[in-house]
Amino acid sequence: MRAMLQTLLRLLRLAPGARADAMPASAADRPASGSTQQPVLEALLREEFERCGYFKPEVRERVIRAWLDGQSLAKVGRKLSVEEKKALGLNPRMLITQELVDLLSSDGLTLRDPKTALSDPAICARHRLSRRESLQRSLKIGARQFKWRSTQTPDDCAWCLQNEGRTFGPDIIEQVERQCTCAPYCRGYIEPQLDDLLR
Ligand SMILES: [Zn+2]
Repeated sequence: MRAMLQTLLRLLRLAPGARADAMPASAADRPASGSTQQPVLEALLREEFERCGYFKPEVRERVIRAWLDGQSLAKVGRKLSVEEKKALGLNPRMLITQELVDLLSSDGLTLRDPKTALSDPAICARHRLSRRESLQRSLKIGARQFKWRSTQTPDDCAWCLQNEGRTFGPDIIEQVERQCTCAPYCRGYIEPQLDDLLR
């Protein structure tokens, strides 16, 4: 029975080591090329890049397209000199290009490393997509109850901590997204309750 449960969890890609947040940053930070979930990912990216407010509104679409096309906007353009970085209040040792500075809003420029303006919203969108995929796969095999699993680290928001291990129905994603305030993004995940299915 235990082996069967492990197999199911592996199929759902929920076994230890297969969590979305265990993904190397390079993979989490890349478009899901050829994914059938591309329109969903695109919608989530749009939400995240809008919500974060790190980019000027008129360039957001360009940032999203570049991300979907696998282009790194952090590396193109002229690198700022130490004086230029100091004038903008940026860490002079940080590598940053004029191209990126031109895209960022004042909020984006006040980030400790403004390059995270490109990666954080994208990683958040990937996590949200991964959660949706887990839920869909679990619903398909008959799961109807899901436990919320926080990361158990100082990154968890108060809501995630309070709801660690709590059982939800199929509306778990709506509940999490309405109430979680983890910043810059939530790494919690859903754990389908499969025991009833194996009896
Ligand atoms: Zn949270």
